[in-house]
Amino acid sequence: MRTWIKNPLAVWTGNDLNADGGIVVDDGMIAEILESGDSPAETVAVEFDASGLIVLPGLINCHHHFYQTLTRAFPAALNKELFPWLKALYPVWAGLDEECIALSTELALAELMLSGCSTASDHHYLFTDEVADAVDIQVSVARRLGARVLLTRGSMSLGDSDGGLPPDSVVQDADTILAESERLIGTHHDAAEDAFVQIALAPCSPFSVTPELMRDSAALAREHGVLLHTHLAETSDENEFCLARFGKRPLDYLDELGWLADDVWVAHGIHFDDDEIARLGAARTGIAHCPSSNMVLASGLCRTRELEASGVPIGLGVDGSASNDCSNMMQEVRQAFLLQRLRYGAANITHHDALRWATTGGAAVLHRQRLGSIAPGQCADLALFDLAELRFSGSGDPLAALVTCGAHRVRHLMIGGEWRVSNGEIPGVDLEQLSASHRQMAAKLAGKACSPAATSGA
Ligand SMILES: [Zn+2]
Repeated sequence: MRTWIKNPLAVWTGNDLNADGGIVVDDGMIAEILESGDSPAETVAVEFDASGLIVLPGLINCHHHFYQTLTRAFPAALNKELFPWLKALYPVWAGLDEECIALSTELALAELMLSGCSTASDHHYLFTDEVADAVDIQVSVARRLGARVLLTRGSMSLGDSDGGLPPDSVVQDADTILAESERLIGTHHDAAEDAFVQIALAPCSPFSVTPELMRDSAALAREHGVLLHTHLAETSDENEFCLARFGKRPLDYLDELGWLADDVWVAHGIHFDDDEIARLGAARTGIAHCPSSNMVLASGLCRTRELEASGVPIGLGVDGSASNDCSNMMQEVRQAFLLQRLRYGAANITHHDALRWATTGGAAVLHRQRLGSIAPGQCADLALFDLAELRFSGSGDPLAALVTCGAHRVRHLMIGGEWRVSNGEIPGVDLEQLSASHRQMAAKLAGKACSPAATSGA
């Protein structure tokens, strides 16, 4: 049904087009945008009154671990930096089962959608016999909710007995990882420009994966035309690990493995020197900047301006909800704005920069050119915010107010032309019931970790 979203308070298109007169949507795509006072060229079936609403392109989350919603503010992991934080949580995550994956995926996606996110990437790297089909479960949940997802088949193959960080109980052998990766690409990956489900391959990090698996994953991804993802240069501990084990810094390690390329995006990308930033830019390797996680774990501060100036696409990621500790994409826009402004100064980082990273930047990182902006021919993914809460009262510039006053929840969210959030609710999802089930599951998972079997390393 051809729909005219009319009379918006403001529209941020992500380009230099003006859509102050509204947006016409048809068959899942944006058919037309209108300047103030204009009318649609063709008859529309529905006129949607957007008075008082600010319209953004649907936000794009470039890095997450949905399952970690089950271990937020986990007492044993509080007040730690990355390596000890991970070591506190690996034994808990070893207890994941299929119901955990389904519930955590649904909760994380619901939370993201309510915050204006229409496309989310997830990095699931923890596979045991209990959750061998984690990505298949995520696909079915995402399809039910109508969210666009880029699900990465993560992996860990370097256990502590071989000098890696994770316990042996949560690593897999390379043959299993590669066979499963190929199966998931064949089963779920859709290469279309308006795809709802895509797959990428994502060996977890230099300290949890062997170099051979990094090389083989890259070869497999390139054979099938899917993207590659990993964590890189997140902490100075990681730099020291790479120097000690491989005799080189993380970026040299990545380069040697054939990963310094434009079909790769890395999470965090903090600890790079000037020469490394120039090499990343020349290769057009993308970065998912995760400000909240970087602050919670005191990991450091991504050099966004130098990276962008060198040609690196920058997107935003909420990262796992155990290090954020939430999955709110609009809040992450504000965190990026605040953190980067602290580094570069008030005149050099504006709300437009932060919104750009969350929209067109994310689309470039994930190679989704039909997403992240509002223009004819783009996918109809739109986030509509109002300024009804006390926090916005008295604000002047409505677009700036979303970022500076702290918008955190959409009124409506359209994905592919369908309303997936309507008046602050997700049709078909009982949020109270979902939250109750998820809380119960988190308590059960924490209980398993405290059982004698788990603490003895079984
Ligand atoms: Zn992460």
